[in-house]
Amino acid sequence: MVNNFHFATWAHRVTNFGGSPQEVDTHVNRLADAGFDLIIPCVKNPPGYADFHTDVAQVNPDYPDWDPLRVLTESADRRGMKVHAWFCVFRDAALIKKRPNLAAVHETGDMGWACACHPDVQAYELALYRNVAENYPLHGLHLDYIRTGGACRCSACKAQMAAGGIDIGNIERKDPALAAWTDWRCDRVTAFVEQMRALTREKGIELSAAVFGDLPACRNANSQDWGLWAEKDLVDLMLPMNYDNSTRNMRLRTRAHVALVDNHCPVWEGLGKSSSMSQLTTEVMMDQIRTAKSEGASGAVLFSYPALSDEDLEAIQSL
Ligand SMILES: [Zn+2]
Repeated sequence: MVNNFHFATWAHRVTNFGGSPQEVDTHVNRLADAGFDLIIPCVKNPPGYADFHTDVAQVNPDYPDWDPLRVLTESADRRGMKVHAWFCVFRDAALIKKRPNLAAVHETGDMGWACACHPDVQAYELALYRNVAENYPLHGLHLDYIRTGGACRCSACKAQMAAGGIDIGNIERKDPALAAWTDWRCDRVTAFVEQMRALTREKGIELSAAVFGDLPACRNANSQDWGLWAEKDLVDLMLPMNYDNSTRNMRLRTRAHVALVDNHCPVWEGLGKSSSMSQLTTEVMMDQIRTAKSEGASGAVLFSYPALSDEDLEAIQSL
């Protein structure tokens, strides 16, 4: 194993790590033996159901009788690995079904986004994170969909900007007010991350974030200024999603990520073993891991666990 380089994996289902309590140790051992440090299971996907026991959100009707999140966390702990509970934060179909006034209004149409800038949305998501942190022996919380999904023009956003003299219903591309609106949206998302920082500090656990690979483009399109989160030391681990079949592209982004974070926290590059943007052979995946290391990242996060073959894990183990 290479020194000072870390491995993690995302998985969209906590049950990707075993269909029964007995199977979980097998998956955890498989990852621990390959040298992985961190497992990031999604426990609130875009439909908004909770894949854990809670009274804050509706529990996924498919969540099994046994408690996969608890079993996984305890199993990982025994092997010296960590588990961060992943939420797709602001894409939450269940929330907006229950409270339609909290839906984001985007030009792209209804994708199940709640308005990330709305205080009630932020309060709900924070309460759900607090609940999982208080009821499970987690090592950390993980932010994803920590963005607006577009430029929201809901009535609350319109009213907030109108109070500052900006009519976002009629704003044009080169209008200087557009920058003020973008800054405001970014500040609202950052305010949520600040609350998550306070929560994780209170609980003595870590905070990690999956962020877009291209900053500042993601400020404009998605109100995500993770450069500022690094400057303010709001997260313990920055995980930029760098899903690309081109290792050259991936290299250039890693260089930018490491410079932007500027040693405020570790950068672990998110690599798309199998993603909507990429499909990597074992050889290319390993090339990208070496590239991430050579560009100054201190780890790699593989998307996603079900795509990791024995060949992949053996290659990682033999680094
Ligand atoms: Zn809004």
